[in-house]
Amino acid sequence: MRQALAGFAELLGRYNARATFPVTAAALGRHPAVLRDLLRCAPAVELAVHGHRHTDLAALSDAEQAAEIGQAMALFRANGIPFVGFRAPYLRWNDRLLAALEGAGLWYDSSQCLLWPVIDEDALAPEQREGLQLLCDFCQPRPAEAFPALPFWINNLLEIPVSLPDDELLVERLRLRDGTRLAAVWGAALELCHRRGELFVLQLHPERFPLCAGALEALLQRARGLRPSVWLASLRDVTVWWREKRALHVELTPRGAEEWEVVAEGPGRGVLLVRGTAGEVESTPWGQGYRMVSQRRFTLRAEDRPCVGISSAAPLELLQFLADQGYVLEVSDRAAGYSVYLDRDAFSPPDMLPLLEEIEAAPGPLVRWARWPGGAGSALAITGDVDALTVWDYLVRPFEG
Ligand SMILES: [Zn+2]
Repeated sequence: MRQALAGFAELLGRYNARATFPVTAAALGRHPAVLRDLLRCAPAVELAVHGHRHTDLAALSDAEQAAEIGQAMALFRANGIPFVGFRAPYLRWNDRLLAALEGAGLWYDSSQCLLWPVIDEDALAPEQREGLQLLCDFCQPRPAEAFPALPFWINNLLEIPVSLPDDELLVERLRLRDGTRLAAVWGAALELCHRRGELFVLQLHPERFPLCAGALEALLQRARGLRPSVWLASLRDVTVWWREKRALHVELTPRGAEEWEVVAEGPGRGVLLVRGTAGEVESTPWGQGYRMVSQRRFTLRAEDRPCVGISSAAPLELLQFLADQGYVLEVSDRAAGYSVYLDRDAFSPPDMLPLLEEIEAAPGPLVRWARWPGGAGSALAITGDVDALTVWDYLVRPFEG
């Protein structure tokens, strides 16, 4: 396992990629030196808490969940391993668990999952289809055709969904052992994700790194070739950015007929995009019809206000979700005069994707922030759960409960 982790970190290093390894605290407690060495040699790697024992936390009572999380965090701290995030063993979570994580002061959770439509189910043998069904029953992934692969706030906890298929599904359930085919599946999912400007959170257990190294390298190469660029981030990086972007702000002031002064403020990593408007401002092509503007104060010509108008009946969660995507919002009960106007009094996760599609399909001019920092068009986070560090750990895992 030490070798697999070292090889994994070496490959990440060659691509300037960052990664998150969620580690079961009981395994960490038995081999802290392995993980401390890893952090010392690979500064781009972040560790996260993956439970105390590798057990189904959703099956536990409130008090048991709190005890598992508390013990795990205490072991990380006692061994001097920094952490801010969490992933549940077997991706098994419930609302009580998420509340307990938030209560424990964790910044993010990455236990919910969604499945990209990159497996040709008709081509599967019966036992492969059964394997896929078992995993879907167990982890209940949301279909990526209906939900965006994007982080979202649950109170103060950022949920960062994992993208499936992961190595477990492909290698164990579907018996795909061929590196070229693994690379093709992950590459196809990355392309779909990039087209929608979302976040691909790859799950590759380090113990399968020797088998999947070629596929991971092919994925990183493919990411490197995409435009706009793909932001390579750890889950901690994603959370820091999701917090940082709250300071992004745009003020639109009318300056004569059909002319708007734009004043943008916020962190330097924020990139301003404009579409469908003429003006004096210097810009460079970006993607999806947008152009990138490096100035923070300029004027634009547009008939209507080039932002998203939204009715005062809209719930706060909706405003938060749209602001997180970089849209410039104005609450108004007058639909007239806005490039895009949304009149909604309810919002839930199934509304996310249709709303984004509606805004992007609207023809009007728009000023917005890019969703990702530095002008990236999408993001890729490599993650790998470390359930055990030696064969011994694997053997004792079932008896820890
Ligand atoms: Zn695990």
